[in-house]
Amino acid sequence: MKKPIKFTGIVMITFILMVGIFVVGVGAEGFRGNNEPPNDNTPSNNEDVSNHNPSKSPIQDENSSEGEEVIEIIGEVNDNPDEEKIPLDEGKVVFLTFDDGPTKLTPLVLEVLEEKEVKATFFTLGKLIERNPEILKETQEAGHSILPHSYSHDYAIYSTLESFYEDFYKAEEALTKALGTYPPPIFRFIGGSSNHSSFEYGGQSFMNILTADINEKGYYYMDWNIDSGDSKKDTNGNTIKDHVLEASEDKNLIVILFHDTERNTAMLEVLPEIIDFYKAEGYRFKTVEELSTEEIDKMIELRLINRVVNR
Ligand SMILES: [Zn+2]
Repeated sequence: MKKPIKFTGIVMITFILMVGIFVVGVGAEGFRGNNEPPNDNTPSNNEDVSNHNPSKSPIQDENSSEGEEVIEIIGEVNDNPDEEKIPLDEGKVVFLTFDDGPTKLTPLVLEVLEEKEVKATFFTLGKLIERNPEILKETQEAGHSILPHSYSHDYAIYSTLESFYEDFYKAEEALTKALGTYPPPIFRFIGGSSNHSSFEYGGQSFMNILTADINEKGYYYMDWNIDSGDSKKDTNGNTIKDHVLEASEDKNLIVILFHDTERNTAMLEVLPEIIDFYKAEGYRFKTVEELSTEEIDKMIELRLINRVVNR
């Protein structure tokens, strides 16, 4: 069926206006409060209005997807005494992030988080959201950040830009459908932005191309600076805990990578102790959706968001 040109024009203008409103919202307030109910626009066509120039970020060791680098926070005067708006570079902050759920383990993770009264961020898989929508709902009701990771978690998505976006939009769609709200434009790449798994699909420079492209589309991607190591084969609770505590020693701002995969009971066992450790060390717990625009900029500087991949 052919649509009249006039109608298409109106749809286009409406679309452009809606994208504009969406984008201005992110610019002004960070990610919070942008979860408008789903509508016809997709962020795939957002223009890059982030004003972030990741090419300014120092290019360091791109071989490490675990980002074990030391992070120094540059002091900045806090002119906003509002308790909720303490800047990232004031005191210590930890982002607990859980990838690859929702699974049957997720409710157990939620129990720990509730008991410890902390909020976390979940980078979810579309295929599992479709299988476990009630677990996702439970996560949402508990007030955690829920963001996309992938639909399939198959590294073959890194073959072409088309294969990546096909999977990515499917993940966003599954999330939007299950939550009834539109996810903010921040996600985590499978394997992280500097992964090597993409080499055998799209080649060694594929992540350069993909990260630049998705950045241009107005998306943000988040990596981590501590990998808990909980996805390693034959690991155990104590190994995970010891590694996390040691890796945290020299960091004031931490994004820690955990996995709420079904069999990851080793992580679950030590999660309460890890949270207690951060509390005792004076860290504040933050979720990704709580980030303000300035804080996003800070995390870009620190290469935790929109890290430039240059191979
Ligand atoms: Zn993953």
